[in-house]
Amino acid sequence: MINITNLHKSFDDLHVLRGIDLNIEQGKVVVLIGPSGSGKTTFLRCLNLLELPTNGKIIIDNQEVSFEKNLPKQKITSFRSLTGMVFQSYNLFPHKTALENVMEGPVIVKGVPKQKAKERAVSLLQKVGLGDKVNFYPFQLSGGQQQRVGIARAMAMDPKVMLFDEPTSALDPELVGDVLKAMKDLAKEGMTMVVVTHEMRFAREVADEVIFMDQGVIMERGTPEEIFQKPKEERTRRFLNMIQ
Ligand code: ATP
Repeated sequence: MINITNLHKSFDDLHVLRGIDLNIEQGKVVVLIGPSGSGKTTFLRCLNLLELPTNGKIIIDNQEVSFEKNLPKQKITSFRSLTGMVFQSYNLFPHKTALENVMEGPVIVKGVPKQKAKERAVSLLQKVGLGDKVNFYPFQLSGGQQQRVGIARAMAMDPKVMLFDEPTSALDPELVGDVLKAMKDLAKEGMTMVVVTHEMRFAREVADEVIFMDQGVIMERGTPEEIFQKPKEERTRRFLNMIQ
């Protein structure tokens, strides 16, 4: 489903991603962990071309982009539609209801008829536990509820892959569980997911694979059991000791 070869990203002379190779099969949940500044967010943003990689190749669902030359805008837009992204800050439209936020993309970008988009949006909001909040505005929703609207909004575009960038780290602890549950439900349905998170319990319970990133490279990867219980690399061990 996802195939990444020799991915590099520099910001001026700061070389952030330094050659990432990774394959992710359809339906797998991959959790990225690593120290602050190791490049996790940059990597996710490269996957949907919010950042343009400096070099390398990405294939998602048989669509390929490589970065030796300038990419046409149209290619960027079509490639970006393969992924749905959920950010740490929910970025909802403040003057639109939950329902309108979820309908917006399908109607405006994809030209889906309003009634059809509405039915789908209601069903997605029900799925994330917000069936009774469809007509609420973001300011009337808790952070966790807003984040679940964010998940429904991303899903409404029918992405092949969902990318999550620390989706729970801005939330009060008691609101984290509902967001993680919505993510677990997606995983159970077979959605391919790449998740940057500090929620190690989520990684243990849901991840098929955990990837430890450090200084712009993949230091170690394995099943949650391999990474959390018997990490091979000293740096992985040190990181896990620090956060657990
Ligand atoms: P955290 O866990 O703190 O979110 P991270 O592993 O996600 O960290 P990134 O946010 O990917 O790390 O940042 C990696 C490096 O790239 C950092 O040194 C950061 O300052 C730098 N960086 C990220 N985005 C930009 C940008 N737009 N311009 C310049 N430097 C950037």
